[in-house]
Parts: sequence; structure tokens; C-alpha cells
Amino acid sequence: MTVTEQLLKLFRCDQQLRGLQTRLTAADRFLAEQSRLLKEAETKLATLEADIKKLKVSVSGQEGEAGSIDARMAQLREQMNAARTNKEYSAFVLELDVLKKRKKEIEDGQLDQMGKVESAEKGVTEARAKRDERQVIVEQASRDRAAKEAEIKDRVDELRGQRATLSKDIPADVLKIFEDLVARHGDEAMSALHVVDRRNHEWACGTCQVVVPVQVLNDISAGKFVRCKSCTCILFAEEDVTSKKPPKKDKAAL
Ligand SMILES: [Zn+2]
Repeated sequence: MTVTEQLLKLFRCDQQLRGLQTRLTAADRFLAEQSRLLKEAETKLATLEADIKKLKVSVSGQEGEAGSIDARMAQLREQMNAARTNKEYSAFVLELDVLKKRKKEIEDGQLDQMGKVESAEKGVTEARAKRDERQVIVEQASRDRAAKEAEIKDRVDELRGQRATLSKDIPADVLKIFEDLVARHGDEAMSALHVVDRRNHEWACGTCQVVVPVQVLNDISAGKFVRCKSCTCILFAEEDVTSKKPPKKDKAAL
């Protein structure tokens, strides 16, 4: 096997690995996005629950005040009965009026607060339902991701094994060039020549479409390691690039 053939095998291995990895990446992204939405739902629920707590504290504070007003009013009524002078009596009436007004304010406020608590509780119920729904989606996404990982694991291990075996036989400097190219160009790190004009030995790089010199065709044909002068990718041929005749299958197609 020529070094280019070895590289091509390695390249195919890498392509498959990248393909498998892409499937996992999509599952990862979905899981991350759903987890983010779950966190949002949890924050919203916690905020609403804190609001209710505050409202309830305020309601109970008002209940306390209403209780002490009631007590004072009962006391005042007794004092009025026992009043000795008109002036004393009038003072009690005046205080009673003030307390009645305050009591009314508190009762109105309480009604308002109760309405707020009620609507906040409705909000909490809705937020909790949304949180639960999202939780289900996240759990499912997490299971799907794990299943995908398990599904591709054997194939990934196999490909990595093949990769390791192939890499061993490739000269280190060539391997370094190959890996740099793959890191930069991915699926375009290696490029098959395609025919432009077979009779005139015109073949172009499949990546950048630049026609390569005849010498390059001879080198490729001889199994040498050749890179495109224009786009730097590693060139390979899927058929005999030195022949003027089309391969048999082309003839059959005609
Ligand atoms: Zn090129």
C-alpha cells in the first residue's frame, strides 16, 4: 500500500468518526438547550414562590394589626359606657372613629392581598407544571444522548483501533501534515482528482478545481505523497490518471 492509500484509509476512518461525533454533538446541544430552559423554569417558579411568601407575611401582619384594633375598640366601648363627662365620651368616640377607618383600610388591603395571593398561587401552579414538563424533556434528552453514545461506542472504538493501526505505518512527518490539514480543512483535507480532459491529461483538484501539472499526475500514479500547489490538500486518484482511455465502467455507461 502506498502512503497515499494509507492516508486515504485513515481519512475515511476520520470521516466516519466525525460523522458519528456529529450525531452526538446534536444530542449534546439539544440536551444543553433543554437544561438551560429547565433552569429558567426553576428560577421563575422560585421567584413566584418567594413572592407568595412575602404576600402571606404581609397578610398576617395586617391580621395582627386588625386584632389589636378589635381589642382596643372593645376596650373603648367599655370606657364609653363608663365615661363620666361628655368631653371624655367625645374623645372616646373620636378615637373609635379613627380606629374604624383604619380597620376598614386594613380590610380593603387584606382583600386586595388575598386576590394577589390567589393569582400568584395560580401562577405558581402553572410555573410548576411547566417546570415538570421541561424536566420530562430533559430526562428524555439525557437518555437519548446516553443511548446514542452507547450506540456509536462500539463503532467508535473499532474506528479508533483501525486508526491507531494505520497511523503506525505512516511516516511521522506525513502524518503530522495530514493531521494539520484535517484540523484545518476537515473533509477537504484530501481531494480526489477529477477529469477535465482525459486525452490532454487535464485533471483538476476536487477541492480547489485548479488543473494539476502532468508531473503531478505521474507522481500520484507512482504512489508518491503529493499535495495540491494551490489549496495544499493531499491529492489522490480514484482511477488511472495517466491513461488516455476512460476506465471500463465509463465505457459501459456510454
Ligand atoms: Zn487544490
